[in-house]
Amino acid sequence: MKKKLGIYIHIPFCVKKCNYCDFNSFASDKDMQMNYINALCVEMKRNNEAYKDYVVDTVFVGGGTPSILIPDLTKRFFDCLYSNYEIDTNAEISMESNPGTLTKEKAKAYKEIGINRISLGLQSTVDSELKILGRIHTYNEFHESFMILREEGFDNINVDLMNGIPEQTFETFSKGLEIIKELSPEHISIYSLILEEGTPFYGMNLKLPNEEEERLMVHSIPEILGSEYHQYEISNYSKKGFECKHNIKYWKRDEYLGFGLSAASFMNETRFINTDDIKVYLNYSDNKNVYTEFDVLNIDEQMSEFMILGLRMNEGVNLTDFEKTFGKSALDVYGDKIALHIKEELLERKDNHLFLTEKGRDLANYVWSDFLGD
Ligand code: SF4
Repeated sequence: MKKKLGIYIHIPFCVKKCNYCDFNSFASDKDMQMNYINALCVEMKRNNEAYKDYVVDTVFVGGGTPSILIPDLTKRFFDCLYSNYEIDTNAEISMESNPGTLTKEKAKAYKEIGINRISLGLQSTVDSELKILGRIHTYNEFHESFMILREEGFDNINVDLMNGIPEQTFETFSKGLEIIKELSPEHISIYSLILEEGTPFYGMNLKLPNEEEERLMVHSIPEILGSEYHQYEISNYSKKGFECKHNIKYWKRDEYLGFGLSAASFMNETRFINTDDIKVYLNYSDNKNVYTEFDVLNIDEQMSEFMILGLRMNEGVNLTDFEKTFGKSALDVYGDKIALHIKEELLERKDNHLFLTEKGRDLANYVWSDFLGD
């Protein structure tokens, strides 16, 4: 039987840079977009023979703003993907899309191409908060995009939201979440704003919600979303059966290949990352690789990742799988740390699973840091 593979494709172009963004994304013109898609196709073709024993069961197109591309260019790189890799007929094929760039014509093209899951970057339902974030769209434009997707038959939509936005209050956050719940998307991701160095927000005098308000926002999510949604990862909620299969690969350490600028791959216990220099990426030839980092993980690093990534998920770390993978028990390797965090009520063990408690999710960084290598 063929092995399963996830594929990530990075489209680095955005209309304009958001004030909090530290992703590798930037403005572009048509020529650059065309050259980039050509380079993507070269990269996809370059190693395809090495993956003949794999069948791709998830594809995720992220960015940047993949929906900035005209349908012809989107179709072009999907044609390259389909002609170089075997794609499972039931594959989850996701694409990130930004309100303000999505049209009916594009949504129709996505359907024809075979994209079956769209992730809409909203962040907030409040226009003044969207403005502070530097987003290019209003809430109404998001609503329009959502409706276009539904009209075109998309039945698997994610909405990205954010907490910790400057000027955001518990009321604006919770009301926004209620508005989104009413729309009934299949999946909702809610991330906390992080002020990253090098972004316009960094060092600015922002009126941020305090820690207590932020915790209140996070703790209110399950109650607002109710039983229709369940949390399956620290920042992700979905209706049953609509968990993001591609992202689960990251947390379960399944294999995936990344194509495009700065794209990361994980194959055969090796992590490799493509160049983040657009000039280098556009000019590389088909016999040269574009990796700038190539890291073969040792056993300690593999075990550490297994614990940290596994604990992101609500089902937690499967201790039986740990033992099957590494030939020793997680309790033998991390016994003292696990016992300490269970005593602190940050971790809980049920049957063969070890997972973060609600208190543990608040202090996740502290728990994870204990599983990092020395
Ligand atoms: S749309 Fe996304 S990738 Fe583009 S600048 Fe904003 S946050 Fe960054």
